[in-house]
Amino acid sequence: MSEAPREAAAVSNAIRARRPPGGALLDLHAHGWERSLDSGASTAALVLRAAACGLDGVCLTDHNAVCAPGEAAALAEQHGVAVIPGMEVGTDIGHVLVFGLDRFRPELVHIRQLRRIALAEGAAMVWAHPMRELNLPRPDWAELPALFEALEVVNGDHNDREDGYFAQLAQALGLGCTAGSDAHSVQAIGRVATAFEAPVRDLNALIAALRVRAHAAVDLRRAPAAG
Ligand SMILES: [Zn+2]
Ligand SMILES: [Zn+2]
Repeated sequence: MSEAPREAAAVSNAIRARRPPGGALLDLHAHGWERSLDSGASTAALVLRAAACGLDGVCLTDHNAVCAPGEAAALAEQHGVAVIPGMEVGTDIGHVLVFGLDRFRPELVHIRQLRRIALAEGAAMVWAHPMRELNLPRPDWAELPALFEALEVVNGDHNDREDGYFAQLAQALGLGCTAGSDAHSVQAIGRVATAFEAPVRDLNALIAALRVRAHAAVDLRRAPAAG
């Protein structure tokens, strides 16, 4: 018999324990193989796993590609969780999660141009895994509040802490903190999540919550601090 259901049940206990009362836990960063060639999981399998774990939703953030709104809506309906279309854009300073743009365009790879377009179109931006070492120029930390709503301070592929360097930086700069599994496999879903103070059922609610920083990064692989 597969271990998967038992493992998903253990994850769901951790998720229940960390969900804010009246709020929601969402994975803000996942890749399905239909649009992300480096993923080993179908989008439907990722959503199924998110629902099985007890997450309230998952954001589809494929590399330089956005799923059709109808696809996300159909998966949400089928599995009973929020399925929010987003995109992970490869920019000249690294990967950036964008919520609220409907398609990739080549000019989005320049971070300041991406920001201009995102603001004009009502989108929100999160600097994905800023702790990842890349051979790219980093923005001046003082510029970060002009570029992003939040920093992804906990990423499923990195051993970061909820109170690590980038969480402290985000707090000092008045930016939000998110967590995303960066799932390229089904098992990665449920390792980390972003906790919201209120329900987040669709893209507009997510953008609104990111704008007011009404959320926190949660690492479900670690026990919550006592007290
Ligand atoms: Zn990335
Ligand atoms: Zn990613």
